[in-house]
Amino acid sequence: MVIILENMDSCVGCSACAQRCPTSCISMVYDDEGFLFPRIDEERCTDCGLCKKACPVLKSGNAGQDQEQTGFPRAWAAWCLDDDIRLNSSSGGLFSMFAEHCLREGGTVFGAAFDKDFKVHHTAISKLPDLDSLRRSKYVQSDINQCYREAEKLLMEKRPVLFSGTGCHIAGLKSFLGKPYPGLLTIDVACYGVPSPKVWSMYLEDMKKKYKSEIAAISFRDKKNGWKNYCMHISFKDGSFYRRTAVKDTFFIGFGKNLLSRKCCFSCQFRHPNSQADITLADFWGVERLGLTDTRDDKGISLVIANTPEGLATLESIREKCCLSEISFMDAASGNPRLTASAPMPYQRALFFEDLNRGVGFSALKRKYMNPAVQSLKLWVKRTLGAGVAGKLKKLIKA
Ligand SMILES: Cc1cc2nc3c(=O)[nH]c(=O)nc-3n(C[C@H](O)[C@H](O)[C@H](O)COP(=O)(O)OP(=O)(O)OC[C@H]3O[C@@H](n4cnc5c(N)ncnc54)[C@H](O)[C@@H]3O)c2cc1C
Repeated sequence: MVIILENMDSCVGCSACAQRCPTSCISMVYDDEGFLFPRIDEERCTDCGLCKKACPVLKSGNAGQDQEQTGFPRAWAAWCLDDDIRLNSSSGGLFSMFAEHCLREGGTVFGAAFDKDFKVHHTAISKLPDLDSLRRSKYVQSDINQCYREAEKLLMEKRPVLFSGTGCHIAGLKSFLGKPYPGLLTIDVACYGVPSPKVWSMYLEDMKKKYKSEIAAISFRDKKNGWKNYCMHISFKDGSFYRRTAVKDTFFIGFGKNLLSRKCCFSCQFRHPNSQADITLADFWGVERLGLTDTRDDKGISLVIANTPEGLATLESIREKCCLSEISFMDAASGNPRLTASAPMPYQRALFFEDLNRGVGFSALKRKYMNPAVQSLKLWVKRTLGAGVAGKLKKLIKA
């Protein structure tokens, strides 16, 4: 039997193995939890070993940037000066600035978009009007499709490429390519963990049933109530809409409680200091504590990290379109735990997927694991009685 990884729980599902396979004998198939894993057709496999060579997890021990030598990473609080783009982005709109720069140079930008059914997949764009499809975080694992192959083809033709995604997407690309290309710029986003596409589909079906209409558009990061109080916004084809702050939305509650993430996210090997991207982007939560001016308008502030000289040079070339304020990497990292460390896996995650796979309906799963009423009560106790009392109550309830 051919095995790519001894421990398949560490597979990130990037599909570098499948895209590199010369006999196309590896297909990506969904597991019980709704995540993609490689499946090898042993009849067609020639045991050439190229899949293992392309696997970022098998390479992860010696990857990452050589920070001591280069004096990187460097960090900035940043936002783009175009308010329209900023308000339509998750944080400060920096991704759009990098993407516009690449497109102006005649390049191609790869990133995560919704398809017509609101499943999340990677795609390539080469025209400015298409950029909005890649804008804003979609908190679901994005299917890379054949994007590594497409990017490689462009790079071999010496065309500029900006490839964006999570840390594992970028590690997968680098490992797939196997050598550096001068025209390639990579951006990863700080990552909490990637939720299951299966649970996302169940959530959408539930919404369509409740609103008795097909979905027209979705934003995970609607800023009508401000950046800090961001909302899930779903508009329906019949003109109705759903808007809930993240703390009251069932999908976000499940995400926030770490019930929905892929197993490998709990021991992610591609966060800082092991990011392999030229640039890392994140929300700059807690930026107020740095006492910078102009950060209180609640339109969104990005944390931009240049990990390489190429990343820094590109940041310099978009400088006049942004407001940038350099800070120490330690200051940046201290307010953003997911930049450098994975969340622990909660024991309820296994129970959640066990229930899901024995056919418990989405309404029951919501009530049991992602209940906005319970979440609101917890928040009320924390705010009114203080975190200490909330902690004691939690222990009492568990006991
Ligand atoms: C799954 C996920 C978890 C995240 N967790 C955190 C976190 O814990 N802390 C934090 O500070 N920031 C987190 N972020 C990053 C943050 O939400 C913003 O993406 C980031 O601040 C960039 O915002 P922007 O305004 O510059 O650009 P935007 O236009 O908002 O971002 C678009 C970028 O996000 C990428 N993207 C969108 N959805 C996906 C996806 N499903 N998979 C891969 N790439 C995607 C696009 O390709 C593009 O590069 C997360 C993002 C994702 C996708």
